[in-house]
Amino acid sequence: MRQTWFERAIFLSWYCSTPDCKFCYMSTMKGRIKDPKKARRSLASVLAEAFIAKKLGWKIEFITAGTKSFSDDEMLTVLKSISEITQEKHFLNFGALTESQIKLFQPYIKGYCGTVECINLEKRREICPSKPIEPIISSFKIAEKHNLERAMTIVIGIGETEDDIPLLVNFIREHKITKLIIYALNPIKGTSYKKGPEKEYYLKWIREIRNAYPELYIVAGMGSSRTGILHNLLDAGATSFTKFPAIKFFNSEKAEEIEHECRIAGYSLNSSMSGLPEFSFEEIDMLNVDSNLKNQIKGKIQSYSLPMKSPSCKDLSREATQQL
Ligand code: SF4
Repeated sequence: MRQTWFERAIFLSWYCSTPDCKFCYMSTMKGRIKDPKKARRSLASVLAEAFIAKKLGWKIEFITAGTKSFSDDEMLTVLKSISEITQEKHFLNFGALTESQIKLFQPYIKGYCGTVECINLEKRREICPSKPIEPIISSFKIAEKHNLERAMTIVIGIGETEDDIPLLVNFIREHKITKLIIYALNPIKGTSYKKGPEKEYYLKWIREIRNAYPELYIVAGMGSSRTGILHNLLDAGATSFTKFPAIKFFNSEKAEEIEHECRIAGYSLNSSMSGLPEFSFEEIDMLNVDSNLKNQIKGKIQSYSLPMKSPSCKDLSREATQQL
């Protein structure tokens, strides 16, 4: 049976130094966050999340933070600690990276993730006016030079058309992308977008990229209102899925629906969405950090676990989940 899994991005902060991508929540917060340091999660909270993800078979989609929200040394500490907990290296999505940053982070990352967002580069200039593509492309090149993998994100429904699919096919080839993370727009209140893409349109992008690249690692976004399309995403060629609020909806009817959707698509789900195991803290005790941080991590794990033990979502409507 084919295997699939859930992926979760680990967010380190809710600060962005260029908050004007037109589809993004951060554009609605413009100017409100004055001090990037105050918009960071605690290290204990981040490491607790990484621990839970590992125990439940959730893969880390990437580790991300707004540009300039961490110094390089601070980022290094976080990357090192996460890779110690998960015993893996992960993709880093931290804006465009310089060669010295890549060299510094390389022991703890498997690749660089570039936020391309819109593959029509002319439209992209309007949609992401402060996030030029050139430094991202340069980061792909540096990553390749240092034998790191390349991942990219793209959001469908923000202004591209299906005529742009060949642009994505070419971009993946040109930059030797090994992991494509493709999201459907989830319109954010306060932005100019009112509606996400039609289901068939979103699936078409996934299907055509899969046809062009049978071996590409494709992660498809699927929010909590779209769990009913997971079998379509897998049929279209997604390798795995992301964007589901798995802690909030752990053990819920939506989590059950995800398991059901995988079965009807003929996939075995390698990630647990229900049934929380008892966690042993031995691995936390063995971490190379001070005892205060160890205790904080354990406390965070307990506080995340508590709501995950009981079903939280009873409002599942099959009809609602059929809509994008
Ligand atoms: S750079 Fe990233 S976080 Fe900042 S506004 Fe654009 S998409 Fe959002």
